[in-house]
Amino acid sequence: MVLQCINGCGSDRFEALNAPVFVDSAGNLVQLDTSRATYVCAVCGGVALDVAAAAREMQQRESIEPQTLICPACGTEMMLPEDDPLAELLECPVCSQHFSSDEGRQRLLGDVRPTGDPDLN
Ligand SMILES: [Zn+2]
Ligand SMILES: [Zn+2]
Repeated sequence: MVLQCINGCGSDRFEALNAPVFVDSAGNLVQLDTSRATYVCAVCGGVALDVAAAAREMQQRESIEPQTLICPACGTEMMLPEDDPLAELLECPVCSQHFSSDEGRQRLLGDVRPTGDPDLN
């Protein structure tokens, strides 16, 4: 976890809200459950964000992105160019249509839409 004040005040002290503290029958601290905690900056009171978790989420979102593109003109499926996987403009090897990688992905996402309700059969 890497907490960062949203106001960018540079504080390294944060308060964990909604974090239940578990104690044993003698009142000694057993566990501090911070899994559902909300963090606020102890200096300015701003919301603190876990930038490590945000980066992890971003990586996961990237990894589930389809690795193939569909030509919007002729529908040919092709792999992302390995030497330039972030290329913004691609050329279809079949019809020579130029299209952005976003266009190719949108077409791909449209194709996985459910086409019917299986319960109707
Ligand atoms: Zn702050
Ligand atoms: Zn094409």
